[in-house]
Amino acid sequence: MTRFILLLCSCLLSYLCYEKLQAQNVPVYIYFGSHNETTDIIYHGLDYNDATDYNIMRSYVKQVCDTIIAHDAQFEMMLESNFILGCLQHENAYTNPDDLIEWADNTPQIEVQPHNHFKPFGTNANPYNYADLCYLLDSCGLSSTSEVMGGFIWRNFTSPSVPQDWTQWQTPQPGFTFPDYSWQPTLLWGGGSPNHIDDYNAYGIWKPQAPTVAGFGTHNPLGSLVNFGTGCGEEFILWDTTNVVLLAYRILNFVDSVQVHFAGTPNAFFNMKIMLHFRSFPSADYAAKVGQLISLIQPYFCLGKMEWKSIMDTYQIWQTLHPNANDYFNSRCENTVTITNTPHYTGNIPVTIDGTNNACGNTNQIYSVPIIDGSTYVWTVTGGTITAGQGTSQITVQWDNGVVGTVNVVQMVP
Ligand SMILES: [Zn+2]
Repeated sequence: MTRFILLLCSCLLSYLCYEKLQAQNVPVYIYFGSHNETTDIIYHGLDYNDATDYNIMRSYVKQVCDTIIAHDAQFEMMLESNFILGCLQHENAYTNPDDLIEWADNTPQIEVQPHNHFKPFGTNANPYNYADLCYLLDSCGLSSTSEVMGGFIWRNFTSPSVPQDWTQWQTPQPGFTFPDYSWQPTLLWGGGSPNHIDDYNAYGIWKPQAPTVAGFGTHNPLGSLVNFGTGCGEEFILWDTTNVVLLAYRILNFVDSVQVHFAGTPNAFFNMKIMLHFRSFPSADYAAKVGQLISLIQPYFCLGKMEWKSIMDTYQIWQTLHPNANDYFNSRCENTVTITNTPHYTGNIPVTIDGTNNACGNTNQIYSVPIIDGSTYVWTVTGGTITAGQGTSQITVQWDNGVVGTVNVVQMVP
């Protein structure tokens, strides 16, 4: 038996050494967020009232969850009434301890939160408000009630006329469909606008003073609701059509810029999401793309520049760092840094090689890395011969006898 050792590519190793010298880190806390909508059916034809349709979406959601768990990332799954009702109905979630929603929320890497567009009457009515959603989530068996309001209208809009809908939640509010149940959030998340014409995209944590242009970003130490910034809106979404490599570049470039522009800034605090939408989930290889994205940005987690953290854990960190009620941080997206698609490693991205590090001499072994569309892979092997696959994401190596060998790969992205 001969022992072989796997090595990462040398460009990665020198890169790590270089980065380790940069001490002034402003951590960026990050998570995947998802929304489903009452309008999902328009995009993929799946009606969660229907058991077959619900189960199709359920399997996609499970794939995304499993991918995030496998990579030990963090996921905030924000659900509207239609999907929760589907789970209650088709998985008998009232009593079933293994329904998808309860299973997900019991998983350390996943938190389930409500996401709501309340429309009590008329066509396409959705007679469930946030309190109703929390009641339904409780009915699924969630062990603790959500403290996050996963989307709201932050000010009054005139065309179309849409009123702000968060100040009422400064005190507990009853459900519309379940009026005996009441709920109050701790955190506001995702200040939205009709058709996203003027979302309040910002980093940081503060207590909004009023539902106005001037007042929402003003910190009121005595306020009863906390706004949890969600970062820039459009740049960090993994749509079905998103180029995963470019999205990874944007994230890494953003984190770099945060270090450059905010190191030493008092209270600087960056909490951001990578947004997923259920409507994208049925597209080809969607869960695999989630996994690719996590792999591509992984080096910055090793370096401590980013951390996977749930919303509530991030809020806990903020509270520990800032026990003074006057402390806050609010940096609107447009005031932070430019977000670019610039290649991040001058064409090379470090990857982790999958394959055995113990092999018998004269045997063939397979080594692989995740496939990224359009990439080529340049493999270097010592102590053996590449017999197949050079240039692709997977090679076969015939090892020599009685030596310590190495496998290196450099992935060239388009
Ligand atoms: Zn929505």
